[in-house]
This record gives sequence, C-alpha cells and structure tokens, in this order.
Amino acid sequence: MSFFKKLTDTVSKGVSTATEKAQQTVEITRLNAQISGKRKEIDKLFASIGESVYEGYQAHDLSLAQSKVIPKCEEITAIHVEIAALNDRIKSIRNEKDCVCGKRLPEDTRFCPACGNRFPDPIPVELEKTPVQVDPYVPDELDSEQSDAPSVATDQRQICNSCGTPLYADSHFCPACGEPTR
Ligand SMILES: [Zn+2]
Ligand SMILES: [Zn+2]
Repeated sequence: MSFFKKLTDTVSKGVSTATEKAQQTVEITRLNAQISGKRKEIDKLFASIGESVYEGYQAHDLSLAQSKVIPKCEEITAIHVEIAALNDRIKSIRNEKDCVCGKRLPEDTRFCPACGNRFPDPIPVELEKTPVQVDPYVPDELDSEQSDAPSVATDQRQICNSCGTPLYADSHFCPACGEPTR
C-alpha cells in the first residue's frame, strides 16, 4: 500500500522530528478521511432531499416534501459544523492559524506580514526563546566565475529595520513587531 511506503520514507529520513511529523501526517490523514466521509453523508442527504421533492411534485403537492426535507436540511447544517471542527483540529496540528485577511500563518506569528493584523501576545516565556537572527549575508566567493553576478541574495535576506527579524519575501509588515516594511 503506497500510504505505508510513504510513511516509511518519511520516518527513515532520520531525526525524531521526522517521527513526530509522520504521526502528525497520520493524524491529518485520518481527519481528512473523516471529513470526506462527512461530505459523502451530505451528498446522500442532498440526493434524498431531491427525491422527496420529486415525490411531492408527482403527487401535485410539494408541501408533502416539507416534513421530510426539513430534518435532512438540519442534518446537513449539523454535519457542516462537524466538518469545521475537524478542519480546526487539522490547523492546530499543523501549528497554523488563519488571519482575518485569509493568510495562513504559523501559530506563533504576532503580526500578519500581509495586512499587519496584531494577534494576542503569546505566553511571555516564548519571547525569550525566540532568537533574533541578524547574521549578515556573506557572499559566496568560492566560485570566481559568479563574482560579477548581481547580489540577488541580499533581497532574500531582508530584515526588519526595527527589530532585526528576517522577513518573508512578500511581507508588508514585520511578523514580530508589526513595523511596516516599506
Ligand atoms: Zn492578515
Ligand atoms: Zn520587526
């Protein structure tokens, strides 16, 4: 089964985080299977609603369908809620959260790099652990043929003017302090 082959490959790549990642992958796969199962339940309910409506049409009284259709619609609404809960669970396993602007971000982001939205502060202890990476870009001089090439790499190493945090390529705001980048 290719699923287990894939799983074995992931684990064999080494370190313990790979095992942890594999466990997360299994859990996410399980949740996704539950979600697609629930989507199929919804499809069945839609089909059954359609049948009830058609029966009412044939009997020249659509109101006959109402008593059958309403409980099924309520069931669909309940399943939508369950699917949303499963999706939330997947996001928390991946350590992600959604910004109000729709951008998907790592759980520990304090400011959205796209819209500047500020998230509630994480537990203060976490802040001390966050290393501020300010190591400057060092050009690779091993290959003399490429020494004339423009230093594109400096653009990839943009850092926040205010706090020195490395920025994403498409950042409009520093993810650590919220300072606008341009
Ligand atoms: Zn945002
Ligand atoms: Zn900053």
